[in-house]
Amino acid sequence: MIEELFKENLKVFKAYEVPKLEYKVKLDANESFLALDEEILETIASRLKKITINRYPDAESQTVCQLYGQYSGISPKNIIAGNGSDELIQMIVGTFVDKNEKIMTLNPDFSMYKSYVELAGGKALHFELDEEFNLDVESLVEKVNEEKVKILFISNPNNPIGRVIERREIIKIIKSCNCIVVIDEAYFEFYGESVVDEVQDYENLIVLRTCSKAIAVAGIRLGFLITNDLLLNEIKKVKPPFNVNSVTQLIGEVVLENTANIKEAIEKIVKERSFLLEQLASIEKIKIYPTFANFILIQSENIDRIYNGLFEKGIIVRKFKDERLKRCLRITVGSRKENQILLDCLKGIEL
Ligand code: PMP
Repeated sequence: MIEELFKENLKVFKAYEVPKLEYKVKLDANESFLALDEEILETIASRLKKITINRYPDAESQTVCQLYGQYSGISPKNIIAGNGSDELIQMIVGTFVDKNEKIMTLNPDFSMYKSYVELAGGKALHFELDEEFNLDVESLVEKVNEEKVKILFISNPNNPIGRVIERREIIKIIKSCNCIVVIDEAYFEFYGESVVDEVQDYENLIVLRTCSKAIAVAGIRLGFLITNDLLLNEIKKVKPPFNVNSVTQLIGEVVLENTANIKEAIEKIVKERSFLLEQLASIEKIKIYPTFANFILIQSENIDRIYNGLFEKGIIVRKFKDERLKRCLRITVGSRKENQILLDCLKGIEL
């Protein structure tokens, strides 16, 4: 039986499913609502002709790392590029987590930390945020050290809550936890604060970034890992040699050469976020959580009615199976037109 060759720990796993939904307005995946400028698309098109596609890509993604270094104020020698930050999470797990070893994540937080750890045969422990999704930093540190976990993963801003842990609290966590601390800053541009400038100062800090959100190129799959030399050299041992393809590197380069466009896009998204927050606040019986990302978490006793009402009109948002989020929906900030369609539909749903 061929199944005898399958891995024991994969037996309980299901493949990650991205629902194939028919939609008119897509507000479920925290993508940017802004397409790239025509001029940038033209530059990409003309440079594409020049890439030597019969050759492997630059294994170290040097040019794109250099440009990301300029964008983030970090030396390129401290950066590894990945096929999305997803791949970088997997690399971190592959580097540090052996079978039965433990890591810790907050609950709720981004689910892929747990998935990759369990795929690797490790154990993911949860530290629960309180009723209002606030974090008790002292208790977290105590738990991390008591459980002797190898890695603590935190997304900041938190996906799916949108809340943030202030910089001085993050520093306290990095200093007090006897483990590797991964601060996943996928949404940092919509917040503005970062600890990336601290990677040389703490031997246990790794920062993750992505081009999928504010930089608006989710389709090319490009993320960055930033850390000190020691951790970087260790992680490089598990990095697949040509993990970022040449087309992605090229598009990433063009986009990162145009940081003024990125800045402008962030301003537009933050402005739409304010509009959407303000409008949502006027709808009765919906609770809104404060957000520092490009999405808004809402809660209601009638969440299924809201989800279904939106779905019927072709508007898709993110719902959750998880117990703590089962009365919540996560809505990505869309364009003014998309947000207006969403709001009109929400106002028509009887709650
Ligand atoms: N981290 C967080 C917190 C995310 O929300 C996401 C995407 N939803 C990722 C990482 C992965 O991003 P990507 O692989 O597109 O870089």
